[in-house]
Amino acid sequence: MSVGIDVGGTFTDIVFFDGRVFSHTKTMKTSEFIKYHDLIERYSNAVFAIAGWIRGGKILKTPNIPEFEVKMFEGKMIENDANCFAIYAHHVTGYSNIFAVTLGTGIGAAIIADSELYRGNGLASEIGHAFVGGEESCVCGGVGHLETFFSGWAIKRKFGRELSRKELLRLDGFRILCAEVAKAVLILDPEAIVFGGRISATLEPGDFMPVYSYLPPEFRPEIKVIKDPLAVAKGAAILAGER
Ligand SMILES: [Zn+2]
Repeated sequence: MSVGIDVGGTFTDIVFFDGRVFSHTKTMKTSEFIKYHDLIERYSNAVFAIAGWIRGGKILKTPNIPEFEVKMFEGKMIENDANCFAIYAHHVTGYSNIFAVTLGTGIGAAIIADSELYRGNGLASEIGHAFVGGEESCVCGGVGHLETFFSGWAIKRKFGRELSRKELLRLDGFRILCAEVAKAVLILDPEAIVFGGRISATLEPGDFMPVYSYLPPEFRPEIKVIKDPLAVAKGAAILAGER
């Protein structure tokens, strides 16, 4: 039985996987989870999906998890959360080449190339921190990044609440997101773009058609949305089974 634990910006999910079936055991607030050091020790064989920048097995930064303690995960198997989502997207869609995008507290992205996770030097496809303009400060310390236009934290900062599907689609930030995703498609030529995360769960594949409008007609990757809130934890559990 392998274990995947999604340590998200807001909630932590724990999922078991026996190679065939997933079972969900627990969801708790991340602020609570990171206080229970023995809980982390109990699942020492788990893959921990972290909403953070990971290079060479080291967590460099967790812009979207306040009070995160890098030390707690030393010696543990860790993986970027969007990478775990991409593993799950590969598992359920079967596509060999995928550009995966998670829209939640922040924006994550990941690449499946020839059925393998592509990490580059660790931080491949951090498109949430691409400079797109403006002077708004980003949680990473930068300015004018994509996340300042379209992310859970930016929407909360600007509107003080979550937005409906209609409201999201009217945001300038949504078009900017689609344009950035289109740039990634030109680089990767994936068979599919798969969206996940809390914000994507309120949207439909057809809502992402603006991506096509920024691309030559030869580029028409399938657009899919995975609405499973445990997708990241499941991807982590698949990885734990492989390690
Ligand atoms: Zn940033």
